Amino acid sequence: MTREPDHVGKCLCGEVKIEVMGDALWVGHCHCPSCQKAVAAAFATYAGFKKEAVRLSGDSLAVFRSSPRVTRRFCNKCGSPISFESDAWPDEFHIHVALMKDAAVFKPEGHSYIRNRLPWAHMDDGLPTHDKFSAPHE
Ligand SMILES: [Zn+2]
Ligand SMILES: [Zn+2]
Repeated sequence: MTREPDHVGKCLCGEVKIEVMGDALWVGHCHCPSCQKAVAAAFATYAGFKKEAVRLSGDSLAVFRSSPRVTRRFCNKCGSPISFESDAWPDEFHIHVALMKDAAVFKPEGHSYIRNRLPWAHMDDGLPTHDKFSAPHE
């Protein structure tokens, strides 16, 4: 018997599906220039999960290496960014939480790369801010 996933999500067109077992290890916003471009927005919001807890599927799931260390997955039909992986966290998928059906339950715990924050993106949520992620994010 296969267990039902605890969290599910999908891209804008619905072709890429995300299934996750268990809860996020952490949730956070990233303001780094690479993430800004990847999501074409002021910042990206990720939930980190153990790789083995995540199943990504769909024929339109594609891969872009934004640097030698970083793999970003996206849907090549609708363009939704799906996930971030880095050599710095070899056993984690960082999933763009806005894709999740229950995105509201993934509460961000902080802001990374706050030094790259766009000045019009005002943060008054009281969350801790960090100069970087715990490892380079580009
Ligand atoms: Zn799509
Ligand atoms: Zn980033």
